[in-house]
Amino acid sequence: MSTDAPIRLLTPDVVNKIAAGEIIERPASVLKELLENAVDAGATQIDVAIAAGGIKLISVADNGKGMDRDNALLSIERHATSKIRTAEDVECVATLGFRGEALASIAACSRFRLLTRPAEALTGTELLINGGRLQDVTDAGGPAGTIFEVRDLFFNLPARRKFMRTAPTEMAHIQQVFLVHALGHPEIGFRLTVDARPMYSLPAGAKLEDRLRELFGPELISALRPVVWRNERFTISGYAGLPAASRADRNEQYVFINRRPATAPIIAHAIREGYHTLLPAGRFPVLFIFMELDAERVDVNVHPTKREVRFREPQAIRDGLIAALRGALTTPAQLTGAGPLVSAVPAPPTPELHIDDLPSARIFHYPALPGIPIPVPPTLAKPAPGAASEPAATRTSESEAPPASPARAPWAWCRVVGQIGGLYVILETEDGFVIMDPHAAHERVLFERYLKALSGGAVISQGLLTPETVELPPRDALRARQNLTLLRRMGFGIAEFGGN
Ligand code: ADP
Ligand code: MG
Repeated sequence: MSTDAPIRLLTPDVVNKIAAGEIIERPASVLKELLENAVDAGATQIDVAIAAGGIKLISVADNGKGMDRDNALLSIERHATSKIRTAEDVECVATLGFRGEALASIAACSRFRLLTRPAEALTGTELLINGGRLQDVTDAGGPAGTIFEVRDLFFNLPARRKFMRTAPTEMAHIQQVFLVHALGHPEIGFRLTVDARPMYSLPAGAKLEDRLRELFGPELISALRPVVWRNERFTISGYAGLPAASRADRNEQYVFINRRPATAPIIAHAIREGYHTLLPAGRFPVLFIFMELDAERVDVNVHPTKREVRFREPQAIRDGLIAALRGALTTPAQLTGAGPLVSAVPAPPTPELHIDDLPSARIFHYPALPGIPIPVPPTLAKPAPGAASEPAATRTSESEAPPASPARAPWAWCRVVGQIGGLYVILETEDGFVIMDPHAAHERVLFERYLKALSGGAVISQGLLTPETVELPPRDALRARQNLTLLRRMGFGIAEFGGN
């Protein structure tokens, strides 16, 4: 368009399409908005149905307060909301939504059906909207509450449509959104049906612990410690994962601020501080943290998706969260070694060991693995012959090893002095001491072993008598799916078996 074109107000249709791009990034964003609305409407049961990763259909049915005909028509207008009235209200908003943009945006870029009835009304209302254009408004029956059906997302925004991934990828995002909301509201019953197959049916009135067990399985629960902390201004509750159950990314960290899944830079800092030396660099704890504070102490109006929040007193929040996490992690349960991956055997009377015997020492439950190089802290590495002037800290154990033969153990002998907090093992070596995390060391040993077998092309595997069905969290399932070929090359006979 030429630069001297006259200035014109955009039509609502165009405005909605532009806004849709900001709020609705993919099918999972639609689900997020519809779930937030259902929660805000006071639902105690929310049923989600998805077809083709949400590209074909996203449907959310709730038993909340419903809308009469006027409200239903208003709800799909831009900036129409029942949740705030003045700019001041934004300062203390207690609902998940408040901008009144979501429904207008979704309706602008899909084939949209809304069926709603307040409990006290005899008839409900049905709205049909096609790419933002109202097609039909009729009286309709139906259960009390609201049903949204969103079909063919972005059918009228080809540029957006191109950015959508395959159905399984979009499905993984959808499941993640479902999971987050189900976690944030254990008191609400949630069902998820995917391509006409039921996937989750989570009962209403659950406690967080029950919900966690249903979503993640009993194993995870045993790796968690309860978090309970409060002062006069806010409370922090939930569960903190033991160091042994840490992850390589932050994907298993769920933080809710006044029940809203949210992040803030200060929270990431506090988590790092709270775990401090308990986790090596690059490992992240599993967390389910609920922070409750007065609405006016937190600003949720920072980001279009409201994902990031700002605290009025970030320092106090930070200190509180650090104290909460430390409190949870130093409960006696952990010190007596209740962690599932860590031996609770009391330290043995310091036996003298040769390094090759080390893995079979009583303190570990790991098989003997002779000939596996043990990583050594650079500062304890002995200078290689002829390199005496080189500062020890600049070398790694790998750089010392001749490429063809694996590095030998860095110490001629060592002695297990003991284990601390059921976690770290202290070893005395000929010229110093070493602190070892047996879990990390075991992982490393296995890693080296697999890598060696793989690069040698000689992966040995044996079929199981009966195959094992493994259920993974959605994001891990996606990762596994994307790496099926590699996993097979590593000797795992692995096949996708529906769901996750
Ligand atoms: P917001 O949630 O920011 O208010 P939305 O566009 O998401 O904006 O929704 C607009 C309005 O429609 C809401 O304020 C609410 O009054 C009404 N509404 C939306 N979803 C539901 C629902 N599931 N049940 C009852 N009312 C709803
Ligand atoms: Mg909303």
